Amino acid sequence: MTRTPLTTSLDGYEVWFLTGSQHLYGPETLAQVAEQSQQIARILDEAGDVPVRIVWKPVLTDSAAIKRTALEANADEKVIGLIAWMHTFSPAKMWIAGLDALQKPLAHLHTQANVELPWADIDFDFMNLNQAAHGDREFGYIQTRLGVPRKTIVGHASDPRVQRELGTWQRAAAGLAASRDLRLARFGDNMRFVAVTEGDKTEAELRFGVQVNTWGVNELVDAVAAASEADIDALVAEYEELYEVAPELRRGGERHQSLRDGAAIELGLRSFLEEGGFSAFTTSFEDLGALKQLPGLAVQRLMAEGYGFGAEGDWKTAVLVRIANVMGAGLPGGASLMEDYTYDMTPGDELILGAHMLEVSPSLTTQKPTLEIHPLGIGGKDDPVRLVFTADPGSAVVVALSDMRDRFRLTANVVENVEPRDALPKLPVGRAVWRPQPDFTTSAAAWLRAGAAHHTVMSTAVGIDAFRDFAEMAEVELLVIDDSTTLGEFQKQVRWNQAYYRLAQGL
Ligand code: MN
Repeated sequence: MTRTPLTTSLDGYEVWFLTGSQHLYGPETLAQVAEQSQQIARILDEAGDVPVRIVWKPVLTDSAAIKRTALEANADEKVIGLIAWMHTFSPAKMWIAGLDALQKPLAHLHTQANVELPWADIDFDFMNLNQAAHGDREFGYIQTRLGVPRKTIVGHASDPRVQRELGTWQRAAAGLAASRDLRLARFGDNMRFVAVTEGDKTEAELRFGVQVNTWGVNELVDAVAAASEADIDALVAEYEELYEVAPELRRGGERHQSLRDGAAIELGLRSFLEEGGFSAFTTSFEDLGALKQLPGLAVQRLMAEGYGFGAEGDWKTAVLVRIANVMGAGLPGGASLMEDYTYDMTPGDELILGAHMLEVSPSLTTQKPTLEIHPLGIGGKDDPVRLVFTADPGSAVVVALSDMRDRFRLTANVVENVEPRDALPKLPVGRAVWRPQPDFTTSAAAWLRAGAAHHTVMSTAVGIDAFRDFAEMAEVELLVIDDSTTLGEFQKQVRWNQAYYRLAQGL
């Protein structure tokens, strides 16, 4: 069988740079437009905060060429989005057919070639050439009139803020490309009687492009059984290299067989995922078949490599973990399944302790995790092996995806990961401790009012802006809880969104 190793990198992607103009100005001006727009594209392409390659396209001056470019972008899998800039005035009816056909994310870059005006020398030739100030307004009108989802970025290409905004938008576009390309394997159904992990898989395929399908866990069991002793030996040696392995689990230790069982689960999972071309998966502790342990270590390591994962059959969170892993490719930090577990309710200094039974990604820490074995009072299987660590302190975001019957809703909270108040010697799991914005009571009340899930993706690599851009391009609702949130305004937003999203869908 062919195996496709997972790719979680932005290297193969492109973003096209489009420049709008018209024939009115004559070939000499158009040549200057071309030269200056190539310069702008080059500045952005070379910027450290702009991770995806920018490909300049010849200046567009009529509707046929614009539509052709949009169709070419749609058809080219490398292209994850388009940047458009109207250097001169580009009468916007020329853009109707192209924008209507475009299926890739769009960033409207409102810039100009020069930073300062040459006040002493400015003449009408200069004015003719440098008129994005009104050319882009014409373009803004047609985008708004057509209801084109897009990111609007304002400023000179050399401004680091502009470069950061564009880079973040590119990361969101890469996340969308990864979700449109996402095949997700569920081993078993979701946890019995749980509401929030349910969802409309058909709508998810339309909205996000994800293919969500279920396999009997015994197919995974067969793949685990096929793991060779030699491969298990090699993987165990890798564990001993990478982690502080508990003495009882090491070669010669009395519970070494449990580590070998955990390694076999990883090998089996990996082969199943690679053979099926999957980039996300779920498990269910209620449906483990003949698996010896609940997959813990294996799931943790696969998430850290870029796979999406959701526990208890939660495919919606698995999709988010995959998207966040792609959006954060190459950045410090990572993405993980997270679950709001329990609180420190010290008044005015409340903290949230997040964890899961086992499945938290070690990409949240720069410390060397310990690899341990402990009983798990759920699932009725052998004690599972797992990585134990605490997420690094620093800024993070938690994001949940809920099915609201007629649409999906993303809810995000900007948070700050902090050190636990004490060592956690009796809590041997991967975990994070955070302080939510704007404060604990507002955050929790807003979260509950939004009907947001207890499972989230925690991202420490990309922040809220990447999710804002993602929501815009995927045309999905996003409620944000951050420093500016007040409960009264948030509740109004929830209520207004209810009406807006129904109207926006049409009848
Ligand atoms: Mn859970």
